[in-house]
Amino acid sequence: MESPPSRNEFQIGWICALPIEAAAAIQMLDENFGILQEQERTDTNTYNLGRIDRHYVVIACLPDGQYGATSATTVANNMMRTFSDSLRIGLMVGIGGGAPSANYDIRLGDIVVSRPEGSHGGVIQHDMGKIGKYGEIQRVGSLNSPPKSLLNALAQMRAAELYDDPRYPVYLQEAIGKNTRTRKTFSRPDIKLDRLFKIEHTHPESATSCDQCLAEWEENRTSREESYPQIYYGTIASGNTLIKDGKTREAIRKETGALCFEMEAAGLMADFPCLVVRGICDYADSHKNKQWQGYAALAAAAFTKELLGYVPKGVSQESLAADICPLLEGIKEDQKKAFDQRESHHREKMERVLTKINVAVIKHSRRQLIKISKIATQIERKERVSGYSTAPSTCVGGTPQAMISYGSRLTQDAVNPYSQNH
Ligand SMILES: [Zn+2]
Repeated sequence: MESPPSRNEFQIGWICALPIEAAAAIQMLDENFGILQEQERTDTNTYNLGRIDRHYVVIACLPDGQYGATSATTVANNMMRTFSDSLRIGLMVGIGGGAPSANYDIRLGDIVVSRPEGSHGGVIQHDMGKIGKYGEIQRVGSLNSPPKSLLNALAQMRAAELYDDPRYPVYLQEAIGKNTRTRKTFSRPDIKLDRLFKIEHTHPESATSCDQCLAEWEENRTSREESYPQIYYGTIASGNTLIKDGKTREAIRKETGALCFEMEAAGLMADFPCLVVRGICDYADSHKNKQWQGYAALAAAAFTKELLGYVPKGVSQESLAADICPLLEGIKEDQKKAFDQRESHHREKMERVLTKINVAVIKHSRRQLIKISKIATQIERKERVSGYSTAPSTCVGGTPQAMISYGSRLTQDAVNPYSQNH
């Protein structure tokens, strides 16, 4: 094993929820540098470093048994801190429950990739929403789109599919065939074990397998020509609740158009600019079992490896992943202090807030400001819910204009701090 390059070379962060997903990710490395040996004491992640094609990639897995959005957020934040000088784009890669429909003939082992649609960035939080004007529940769309360089790479990959064979089936087969253990862990289960049941037929509670689930309960599906996984692009539904009921799956699918269910992405999309890739290991119903997990995890990883082949080295057009949040937290902290002090007319601290906001406005492009203000809105919302926020909501009103106008209002105050109160 070669010694790894400097920590500053790692631009791609790859997060997994389960050990089997991390194992699948590691199978895709062209070079494996092993575990990062030294990191801050406050960072509890373990990192596996490697190279895929021209990219240095850092892989982190959620702590054993601690899946879900909160855990994913912690892992992502740690990663952004430890690789703050280099991390540009993120990937959340693993398994998920498929939501097939007449338009999307999703089978076990297929791959679902998050794609921005309408007002959301490709991920919808299905267990959170707000009450609309007519009493309907409006789902909270998640927040940020995947990094532009990944979306561009996706477009390239989809174009290439039109005239050339995809490479991910080859990566998949190579990884399965490496040795006895990889064959055992990742081989494709018998196609007869891919059974999609009608939603009215629930799995018998005491049964440990679907042996007792009758063939006539199954949906009629034609057999496929291709034996390798197919790729679907669209909405991924993320939530803290594990969906394991066909009727629930179908109700949420109809409402959101989701192609897949999982439990981590909603914790990442606000802060960690990432693309979500899920291999389908079950149908999010009462019949779900673990037989397809290894193959589905490897399929998602193989797709991701091919995708990275379309991402240029450098990805310099992306902001540093760590840039935006700490900057905002800093501004927010100073805003709070400044507002406390305005009451006692301490002008000096106020100017410091101004400087930070003005620096933010000057240094960042409009696109970055839009990103900043979106994240700021999130922070503001969270803090308002907890009763923590003291800063006026107008300062993080969700648009760069609101932020700039807040900045200029503060400028006037700083020039004449007594203008409002005297
Ligand atoms: Zn069953």
